[in-house]
Amino acid sequence: MNSIPDIIIAVDGYSSTGKSTFAKMVAAEYGFLYLDSGAMYRGVTLYALEEGIIGADGSIDEARLKKEIGPLDLHFGRADGVTRLYLGERCIETEIRTLQVSSFVSPISAIPFVRNYVDDRLHAFSEGGRVIMDGRDIGTTVFPNAEVKIFMTADEQVRARRRYDELVAKGQTPSLEEVLANLKERDYIDSHRETSPLRRADDAYVLDNTHMTLHEELVWMLGLLQGRFNILDSPGLSC
Ligand code: C5P
Repeated sequence: MNSIPDIIIAVDGYSSTGKSTFAKMVAAEYGFLYLDSGAMYRGVTLYALEEGIIGADGSIDEARLKKEIGPLDLHFGRADGVTRLYLGERCIETEIRTLQVSSFVSPISAIPFVRNYVDDRLHAFSEGGRVIMDGRDIGTTVFPNAEVKIFMTADEQVRARRRYDELVAKGQTPSLEEVLANLKERDYIDSHRETSPLRRADDAYVLDNTHMTLHEELVWMLGLLQGRFNILDSPGLSC
């Protein structure tokens, strides 16, 4: 049996298509490091909100952000097999997932110097390979030579419902309409920005999971990797 080499797997796609759940599952199955690039953009956004760089009227003080982003210590930490985002010593994994951060993250991530900052950090954390990373531009800009690229999509209503259930489970109280509006707006900004817009890389495999269970997604990935790397046995999937 051949095993999967130390490659980079890029997972891109629309908001709330389950990229991180999928990527985490694949990482656990094959012993890859999972990195969430969206978390980094959310971390920058949280910092900008807390420091007043994003004003009460929603305006962004780009000059200040440019000055302060260089030394910003956003990094991933790993404990109990889980990767979390830290700002200095502080774990900010929960704070970056609020609807307030979601409302500002797309304008913040459209700023070219923010993208440079995040790209540099992602490259530093990926040294050595055997990484699966999810985002919007991983297969097109961050790792254009990634050996395997996946582009995820799903029906908009299904995505909104999944994200809504996730937020409610975390104790937040958004309306389904708010969540749907937020994901539509993010998809629009992410796909239309000048720098590294969200688009499917020409060599990406499309995964539409509208009607798929997580197990079916994993089986789909297993088939893809088996074909690509000539693997005969599965790593213990009960399918
Ligand atoms: O993946 P997640 O929804 O947490 O990402 C939050 C936001 O970060 C996206 O809506 C997008 O604006 C931005 N992002 C990006 N490029 C990436 C990852 C995320 O622009 N590679």
